[in-house]
Amino acid sequence: MDDIYNYFGLCLSCLIYLVPMLICAFIGGKMSASKGRSYTEGFILGFFLGIIGLILVWQLPRGEPSPKDGTGKKCPHCGKTVKQDTVICWSCGRTMQ
Ligand SMILES: [Zn+2]
Repeated sequence: MDDIYNYFGLCLSCLIYLVPMLICAFIGGKMSASKGRSYTEGFILGFFLGIIGLILVWQLPRGEPSPKDGTGKKCPHCGKTVKQDTVICWSCGRTMQ
C-alpha cells in the first residue's frame, strides 16, 4: 500500500510542476509563432523557464515571415525579406526608412 501511495504522491507532485510548465510552453509557442518565429523555440523557452521564458519570447524580435505570405519586402540594409508592415527589420534591427 505504501508503494501505491508513493506512486500516486509522486504523480501528483509531478503534475503540479508539469501542468504550469506545459501551459507556459503552449503560450510561449503561440507567442513565438505569432511573431513569425519557430513554434518550438517559444515552446522550449516557456517549458523550461516558465514566466521568464514567456517574457523572453515576448521581447524577441519578429521572425522571418512565412514564404506563403508573398507580401514581403526587402530590407534596404541587409536584404532580408520582411513583412510589408514591418518598421524594424527582424534580422539587422534597423528601421525601414
Ligand atoms: Zn535588415
